[in-house]
Amino acid sequence: MPETSTPAEPVATDPPSTLAYAPAPTEARPQPRWTARDGKLPPTARAPATAAPTPPAAVTPAPTAPGAPSIEPAKPGEAKAPATALKTIARPTSADCAALMAQGPAVVEAAPDLPQSGACGIERPVRLKAVKMPDGRLVALSPVAELRCDMAAAATAWLRDDLIPALGAGGSPVEVVKVADDYSCRPRNRVRGARLSEHGRGNAIDIGGFKLADGRVLEVAGSGLPKPFRVTMRATACARFKTILGPGSDGYHENHIHVDLAARRSQRSYCRWRIPGTDAS
Ligand SMILES: [Zn+2]
Repeated sequence: MPETSTPAEPVATDPPSTLAYAPAPTEARPQPRWTARDGKLPPTARAPATAAPTPPAAVTPAPTAPGAPSIEPAKPGEAKAPATALKTIARPTSADCAALMAQGPAVVEAAPDLPQSGACGIERPVRLKAVKMPDGRLVALSPVAELRCDMAAAATAWLRDDLIPALGAGGSPVEVVKVADDYSCRPRNRVRGARLSEHGRGNAIDIGGFKLADGRVLEVAGSGLPKPFRVTMRATACARFKTILGPGSDGYHENHIHVDLAARRSQRSYCRWRIPGTDAS
């Protein structure tokens, strides 16, 4: 099945309940520390002092709707805050998006516009360098992922809220997310003549595995990832993204997980990743 074909059959998705494998962390988000590495925002550009610690009733990050960025919304009364305090990142510029994401969930920088090459190109490109965990720890993406801003936000939320806590629950925290592909001007599955891949729009990311703090490298290939984590990874990906392809899907995704936010007429996701011994296999 080509990379982003519209599915004709029902979509096999896991219920979000499989998130129970690793309960979403309670977000005792510390006040941001504004150092040079936090980005280009001057202290005056951050949310005003009214952005006090998050009230307890709103601290549990739940899986968001597919594509919805996990960005703290501006609080009432902040409507006239600087552009970096946008309520959403629906149509920001790259610089807006980078600044907004750098306020909390990620280390990003605005990427220069790419020269158009046929249909390829990224609208509002950013470089996603690391994910900031609620405790302030950084988890690097290697290599840095160049993505459309909305896709970077979605990937950040997935990594930060779902994958890194789930895998880290096994003992050793995740240190690096291995990126198998990001922006790439190419046809789907690198098959000559095929339609443009979502990678050609910066709208897709491939995850190849993770490196843990204890030095272990857990890869998608083979059985490198613990089965409960694979189940969680699939369920959360299928809840957040539009196309999800993994091992057993089409022969092109045996060593990485592809997720994208392809525009579809249907609101359904196309989710294909076979995990032997599970209901959705
Ligand atoms: Zn891919």
